Amino acid sequence: MGKIKETIMKYSTGFYVYNMELFKDSVAIALVVSCGSMKESENQRGFSHIIEHMNLFFDRYSCDRKMKCLGYTDFFYTYYLFVTYGLNVSECMERINEIVTGEYISDRILKSIKMDVLEEYYRKDKECNKEYKCLFNGTEYFDHFAIGNIDVIKDCKYSDISEYYKEHYIPENTDIIIMGNKAVIENYVSNDCIVRHTRKVTLRPKYCIADFEWVKLGNSGKLRLYFYRHYVERDKSDLMYDSLFLSLLEKAALNIYGKTDVGKIVFSSTEEFIFIEVNNMLIKSISDVKNLLQKIVLMADTQFISEFIVKYKKEYLDQIKNGYGINLVEEMKQCISSLEIYGELIGYRELNDIMLQGLDGIDVMKISRMIDALINNNESFFLYKIIEL
Ligand SMILES: [Zn+2]
Repeated sequence: MGKIKETIMKYSTGFYVYNMELFKDSVAIALVVSCGSMKESENQRGFSHIIEHMNLFFDRYSCDRKMKCLGYTDFFYTYYLFVTYGLNVSECMERINEIVTGEYISDRILKSIKMDVLEEYYRKDKECNKEYKCLFNGTEYFDHFAIGNIDVIKDCKYSDISEYYKEHYIPENTDIIIMGNKAVIENYVSNDCIVRHTRKVTLRPKYCIADFEWVKLGNSGKLRLYFYRHYVERDKSDLMYDSLFLSLLEKAALNIYGKTDVGKIVFSSTEEFIFIEVNNMLIKSISDVKNLLQKIVLMADTQFISEFIVKYKKEYLDQIKNGYGINLVEEMKQCISSLEIYGELIGYRELNDIMLQGLDGIDVMKISRMIDALINNNESFFLYKIIEL
């Protein structure tokens, strides 16, 4: 235990425990490093992702069933996720210790993983998520996809990678979340390592601007209306309002147009896209778009919203009565994102509490204003792009 404590104290300023009584022995651990592709300069495109591969080198040929490892990199962070149990927690912490001390940052390992990264590049380039690229076209994000730049990846030198690593893999950039039964965890981590205060939330800049475009990408017969949303400040109750808003939007769109789909793409703690997907036969021009949005807003009046809330609440209660399966990885992802956005761990348990407490006193006008925003484009919520898929 001494060693683990040392690791945590030395290499991470944020250490959080999420207690799951239900679990006997399973433990999930996340190492979240504030080192994402937005930090890369032009000759560093792809470095964060390369480092992620280097750091998981130990897992490359391992068919170890004691520990499941997963890594991914986005615009702002590199994530390392481990799922393990009981006695293997120590070993897992050892690996984390090695990641944060640069054990895997060597010329040999860089050479060994380069092919993997290149292959991944070509694969992603071929799959070529055109829609995703189109969404970020013209923004700062477009030049910062985590996969990076092919020439930079091919030519990168160990010394450059090492320098980048040293700059970003520092204690202030590192959070560790450990999830499982508290009694089990306490065998490995002493109480005084654990952070109890809320984490400081980073107010990220806004990179997307109102630059409306109608883009035809394919002939699938589907079309998506993308709205851009920027948050300046967020309150935990927004989790509930947001989920209500999306379901309500879907319900109203469904009533008007039949089969529709509503979804959300979160790419920063302050910026996200919300989309409504419809059949493109119904929408040929911008006036058709206005028409549809107008109809949604008209339909979702306060009475419609109030009735919707009653139903929503009932369904929600039924759903939790039946219980829900816990998936450690999903639960961990939920906690990581809440830590970034709200500065605290909000798992599905807390989410339920927020819903149960909130669903009784919902501000109908607040939802009504959210719906109205569909037609009152403003700086923090506007129709961003229309993409024919
Ligand atoms: Zn990868």
